[in-house]
Amino acid sequence: MKFPVTVSLKAQTPLWTGGADKDKMTCLRATSILGGLRFWSESLLRSLGYPVCYEQDRCIQDQDKPLVCSCCRLFGCTGLSRAFSLKVEDNEALKFSKGRKIIFRHLQHRDRLPTWFLKPGIQAGHTFKLRLTPLRPADNQDTALAALYLLIHWGALGAQDQYGYGFVAPVDENADFFEKVRKITLQEDSPRTTDKENHRVSRPDLRDFFFFSGKIKERNDPVFNDIIRNGGQCNYPDDVPIELRCAVRSRLRPQNGNRQAQELRHQFCGNVMGGTSHGSRYNLTQLNGKIYGWGWYPRNKKQNADRDQCLNALQEELGRICTATRWKEFDSQRDNESSAEWNMYLNELIANPWR
Ligand SMILES: [Zn+2]
Repeated sequence: MKFPVTVSLKAQTPLWTGGADKDKMTCLRATSILGGLRFWSESLLRSLGYPVCYEQDRCIQDQDKPLVCSCCRLFGCTGLSRAFSLKVEDNEALKFSKGRKIIFRHLQHRDRLPTWFLKPGIQAGHTFKLRLTPLRPADNQDTALAALYLLIHWGALGAQDQYGYGFVAPVDENADFFEKVRKITLQEDSPRTTDKENHRVSRPDLRDFFFFSGKIKERNDPVFNDIIRNGGQCNYPDDVPIELRCAVRSRLRPQNGNRQAQELRHQFCGNVMGGTSHGSRYNLTQLNGKIYGWGWYPRNKKQNADRDQCLNALQEELGRICTATRWKEFDSQRDNESSAEWNMYLNELIANPWR
């Protein structure tokens, strides 16, 4: 499958791509969507064994080094332009959701109450098109388009996805693009050139992603009577994802002030105090009474115990708040239903999206 490609999408939750002013959004910015697409393309290529550079050490193409990695051949780097353009076409005038401030008061032993600031993103229901047009010939177009497909069905577009923004759905699941991606056969690099353990140290690899969903249990919960309403609505079950975040943070809170455990908790849950957010390993949202989420955590010998501790906490708290929970994760005891063979697992992701 090759560019040009047009994909029609509908926002299921508010969508935030920022603007020239970082706190104000005036349009759907292609650069933000491109950033996400590159992240998913890199992760997919690494999972297939391709060597791919990373943000802190990008390829440079010049006379001495004419060859760049398979991702830069498509997305460009210093000395090489991007092989395609991505344009956002809006079908309708942009309408913005209300910004919201949510303060969670239910937690005990806190000197500061966890607070969330949700920016006024483009409203759920907004439809738009992404148009990808070739600018020069390039290989690996299949992989980038499969990454776009996975991003749409399993991930989120734009920023603020930790707070549930950016979840989208195809306007027509049977449209040409989606039909064609389902027929793509993704090729592993041959012979596999990257060391499986090595490149999993800290770089995103689709094999280390996890996905989860669950139907929110019906209840009259005092937690939600305790939330301050401020600058917008704050409702059950819309804010159950925030309750889940709080519960996972609490569960990972070290009993004895252990510094390493505290760092692990911050690394997995991110910094949710104040208006900043950094490094949460997972994103989640609420759609039609269900929680959907995804994240990634690198796997290597040193970090596997930490990884298990965090993901077990998330899976268990999800089970407490939801029924009919589902968990999808490659090569893991938390997921007994998925294929243990990478190519098969990948095909399952493409053939059977959850949302
Ligand atoms: Zn590169």
